Amino acid sequence: MLDVLVIGGGNAALCAALMAREAGASVMLLESAPRAWRGGNSQHTRNLRCMHDAPQDVLVEAYPEEEYWQDLLKVTGGLTDEHLARLTIRASATCRPWMRKHGVHFQPPLSGALHVARTNAFFMGGGKALVNAYYRSAEALGVEIRYETPVDAIELDGTRFVAARSGRQRFTARTCVLAAGGFESNREWLRQAWGQNERGEWPADNFLIRGTRFNRGELLRYMIEAGADSIGDPTQAHMVAIDARAPLYDGGICTRIDCVSLGVVVNRDGRRFYDEGEDFWPKRYAIWGRLVAQQPGQVAYSIIDSQAIGHFMPPVFPGEKAETLADLARQLGLPPAQFEQTVHDYNAACRQGRFDHTVLDDCHTDGLQPPKTHWARPLERAPFYGYALRPGVTFTYLGLKVNDKAQVHFAGRPSDNLFVAGEMMAGNVLGKGYTAGVGMSIGTAFGRIAGVQAAQFATRSSGVSHAAA
Ligand SMILES: Cc1cc2nc3c(=O)[nH]c(=O)nc-3n(C[C@H](O)[C@H](O)[C@H](O)COP(=O)(O)OP(=O)(O)OC[C@H]3O[C@@H](n4cnc5c(N)ncnc54)[C@H](O)[C@@H]3O)c2cc1C
Repeated sequence: MLDVLVIGGGNAALCAALMAREAGASVMLLESAPRAWRGGNSQHTRNLRCMHDAPQDVLVEAYPEEEYWQDLLKVTGGLTDEHLARLTIRASATCRPWMRKHGVHFQPPLSGALHVARTNAFFMGGGKALVNAYYRSAEALGVEIRYETPVDAIELDGTRFVAARSGRQRFTARTCVLAAGGFESNREWLRQAWGQNERGEWPADNFLIRGTRFNRGELLRYMIEAGADSIGDPTQAHMVAIDARAPLYDGGICTRIDCVSLGVVVNRDGRRFYDEGEDFWPKRYAIWGRLVAQQPGQVAYSIIDSQAIGHFMPPVFPGEKAETLADLARQLGLPPAQFEQTVHDYNAACRQGRFDHTVLDDCHTDGLQPPKTHWARPLERAPFYGYALRPGVTFTYLGLKVNDKAQVHFAGRPSDNLFVAGEMMAGNVLGKGYTAGVGMSIGTAFGRIAGVQAAQFATRSSGVSHAAA
């Protein structure tokens, strides 16, 4: 009988499969996607947040455990399990030599991402290269991989895993690791979770999905309905404001619009609704998805003038461009009179100090609601530019409850042979909020733990080890 069945084909699943195989277990991995689309959201990633007490190859200075923990505590507002969070943080300090062994290369961040040179290790070639390296290594070690095999049911005997089913196929194994992502690609589930708002709209109908179309949460729902303990709120997710022209799925990181803090953002009524200069954009970009989701029609418009050009990473596609604000309003479909009034009020409220986009500068508005607290400069230099924004869902936080052995729980009791890793349990560490690179830290830490635990249980119960080549 197979020792370890791994369900999913992204970072967490691959880490589990590799660790289980290295521990001597026979391993099969079931990936829902076809080979060309393998790798889930992990294929879109760029980096991993890493604790380190001293400079380490691509990481400068130090990022100690306590600082990482405080960052996590702040973004989650305390909705995190300290024991599991610290375990994730410590694991991030030691996982990179193992990642290198399996073909992952790191590089220093490119310019434009310098704020994370201390905290985040970037993958050479991005997440796609990481996923490809892990698949190559897994195949070389003898992990059997089945593509286009979406698992739709799990057979349980009480709290114990018996088999997984994909349509008419049935896969038995001594142990199983669930690593099939969140439910962000399941638009019906998002619709149900977000419900209808006071305007009678279904906000989720206007969300775009930044990553894979294969994370439909079928397994997550199955497990919750089968009595597995869950954690997290289904409306909590990592959500950013992205280019409204992005595709429904797999737009990835190049759909970001990074000029929000340099201008104003208005809703479809031509009104501002939030402080665009509250903090550095990398610290705030993850709240703008929800802010746009709360606006009428779930759409907003980032407006800049030509002074902003050169201060941000330009989007892949150019925005609307016009010589006057009235023309820009018409091109974007905004009510011209209200839009011009909004910009006029904003311009009049700007109290210019010394503009410096690299610090929280003293250019702010006075007497304006909502205020703009930094980088406030009047929009007066033509041409003017506008970009339509939509909420872009990165991943959802509802997941299965785990302990430090990555065991799935049923009414508080851990299963002996069923484990979970990655987005499917990220909610244990991330109740809300986000700090860049922690998704891969969680998946790598718990994928590796789940793989070892699954292999240990399987080889204990069979008494045989199938040594990895
Ligand atoms: C655009 C984008 C950029 C990101 N950038 C970063 C970053 O730089 N750093 C970072 O830390 N995080 C980043 N993230 C978040 C990160 O992608 C996730 O936290 C991480 O990849 C989760 O890994 P995972 O293995 O749990 O899920 P995934 O990588 O999504 O893998 C889930 C896998 O399960 C498969 N699957 C789903 N359902 C089934 C089923 N029923 N049966 C079989 N297989 C199934 C899917 O096909 C997929 O292969 C980013 C996400 C996106 C979308």
